Amino acid sequence: MQKENGVYDIIILGAGPAGLTAGIYASRSRLRTLILNEGATGGQVTLTNEIANYPGVETTTGFSLINTMKNQAKSFGCSIKSNIKITSLEMEGEIKSVTVNGKESYRSKSLILTPGGKPRMLNIPGEEKFKGSGVSYCATCDGDFFTDKHVVVVGGGNSALEEAVSLTKYASKVTIVHQFDHFQAFAHAIEEVRQNDRIEIILQSELREIYGGSTVEGVRIENMADGTMTELAADGVFIFIGYLPNTGFFRERVMMNEREEIVVSSLMETNIEGVFAAGDAVPKRFRQVTTAVADGTVAALAAADYIRGSGN
Ligand SMILES: Cc1cc2nc3c(=O)[nH]c(=O)nc-3n(C[C@H](O)[C@H](O)[C@H](O)COP(=O)(O)OP(=O)(O)OC[C@H]3O[C@@H](n4cnc5c(N)ncnc54)[C@H](O)[C@@H]3O)c2cc1C
Repeated sequence: MQKENGVYDIIILGAGPAGLTAGIYASRSRLRTLILNEGATGGQVTLTNEIANYPGVETTTGFSLINTMKNQAKSFGCSIKSNIKITSLEMEGEIKSVTVNGKESYRSKSLILTPGGKPRMLNIPGEEKFKGSGVSYCATCDGDFFTDKHVVVVGGGNSALEEAVSLTKYASKVTIVHQFDHFQAFAHAIEEVRQNDRIEIILQSELREIYGGSTVEGVRIENMADGTMTELAADGVFIFIGYLPNTGFFRERVMMNEREEIVVSSLMETNIEGVFAAGDAVPKRFRQVTTAVADGTVAALAAADYIRGSGN
């Protein structure tokens, strides 16, 4: 038998920076708010050792920043349940319903979807070991840690090339390794890379291993044309081979674009009345804690307006 609970004003699915911020704003507005999170509270930001670009906080760890957000949300009365599994979801109609672990049902007047996402990984030896301490998926976040060092950038699309150029503000040398014999990027991005004398390019090659002791010391690269393996000394590896939103569960329930990002209006409204989405799971060029918390703010305030305006 399913355990039924009272009706919340807002249920937020996901407790990363976007979801926690929505929780802070919603509960501060005296709305009955519940956050349900698959996995540990915090999302991607807990993968990084140091956050140096969150305004107002000179430097902190991802874990510490998230802990503060979580405590802030709880202090306003927001409930948070993590390490759960969402097993069913009913988003249409005035009252939404979420079932957790196949047995507990929660109902609400509105929903905010903040499932975030993850960078696509290479899945090679060393990647997991050095993630957050030498292997990065975010130049804006971690570029500064590689000042005057040599970094390898993996990828050949627009993001990889733009991030490679931005890394030359810090690194003394950037080597781009790309699997094909040509880049899949805009002409101006390719031109910028080719004209930058801090950037070297290795085409038709794939990383096979990231090695080192306590820090990254280098990479093993396979030449796809002749199968030869070489080693390249490097201090860091930045991987830009795509991004995967955690939206699989919402497929065919809410409108998404071809990249499986949840389509939203400027008020973070989805195509379903009373359902909002925010953070890395919605379409955007820059995925940062600041952009996620901004989205979470808008979603919570728009949801509050919806609840009050709808007379519920
Ligand atoms: C290694 C790394 C380092 C980074 N460093 C920085 C940095 O220094 N500065 C910076 O500004 N940004 C940084 N970022 C980017 C930043 O972490 C993200 O932009 C931000 O975390 C996005 O927040 P979010 O709340 O949208 O999603 P997420 O952080 O991805 O959180 C989503 C949460 O929802 C949960 N979830 C997923 N699916 C469901 C579901 N169906 N139901 C319920 N819950 C679900 C997930 O488990 C997760 O806890 C970094 C990212 C990475 C990967």
